[in-house]
Amino acid sequence: MFDHIALPTPYQTLALPSSVQLTIKRLDLIHPHISGNKFYKLKYNLLAAQQQGLTQILTFGGAFSNHIAATAYAAQHFGFQSIGIIRGEELATQDLNPTLQTAQDFGMQLHFVSRAEYRLRHEAEYLQQLQQQYPQAFIVPEGGSNALALKGTQEILSKDDQENYDVICCAVGTGGTIAGLIESSSAQQLVLGFSALKGDFLKQDIQQWTNKSNWSLTDAYCYGGYAKTNPELLQFMQYFEQQYAIPLEQVYTAKMMMGLFDLIQQQYFPENSRILAIHTGGLQGRLK
Ligand SMILES: *Cc1c(COP(=O)(O)O)cnc(C)c1O
Repeated sequence: MFDHIALPTPYQTLALPSSVQLTIKRLDLIHPHISGNKFYKLKYNLLAAQQQGLTQILTFGGAFSNHIAATAYAAQHFGFQSIGIIRGEELATQDLNPTLQTAQDFGMQLHFVSRAEYRLRHEAEYLQQLQQQYPQAFIVPEGGSNALALKGTQEILSKDDQENYDVICCAVGTGGTIAGLIESSSAQQLVLGFSALKGDFLKQDIQQWTNKSNWSLTDAYCYGGYAKTNPELLQFMQYFEQQYAIPLEQVYTAKMMMGLFDLIQQQYFPENSRILAIHTGGLQGRLK
């Protein structure tokens, strides 16, 4: 159902003034609309929805959720209706940002809810109520992170990726992607996550998905929190694109790459380390 629409994801090794080797795996190119890690996260969810004979996909996200945009396209492509429960009532009366506009263009019904209601998104009772309201819906959690997503994100690393690199890096939002990378990494690899949000709760979330310990997470490069930016970050994003011809976006991948450059400069990695950074996509939300 899914694999035949995947495009090749090339590798690009950057010329750096350092002994470490930094290679980018361009998952952003896997599909023009189901971009990056979301391709892998949605794959087994949509298959399950289809197997259960359901006709709608219902999911949750904030205004900058690439998961919302990717789900809208994937649902439409595979013949489902889609419903997005979006955080923030005030958004209902504003112009849609590029991410929400993309979702609406792909046919997603957007339901804007208060922050108080959005906070219930993991509560069994609330989910039951939604299921009653939408009996034909397959409900996917925020960011798409569930056991089916993990099954998908474990397919990101190829056998060569497991053998040819010492460090695997990715940006982290809800943790489903890094958990899959950790589960599929080889024992001698370090999986390093750059959190797009402030706070320690994510470590516990990730630990729910994996018993392995060859990983670490930093929020030192979240620039104040989710979807927050500053001029330094935006300048870096522009510099990186010009230097390496690889587009980044400000919510996830620019923060990861800026953190990675900083750690390389601080000589955090042993000499000659081979680093594979996963470009998780999300470019429809990029500030121009
Ligand atoms: C969603 C997203 C992430 C975070 O993935 P999680 O599995 O939620 O941690 C990282 N990068 C990009 C570009 C994303 O869209």
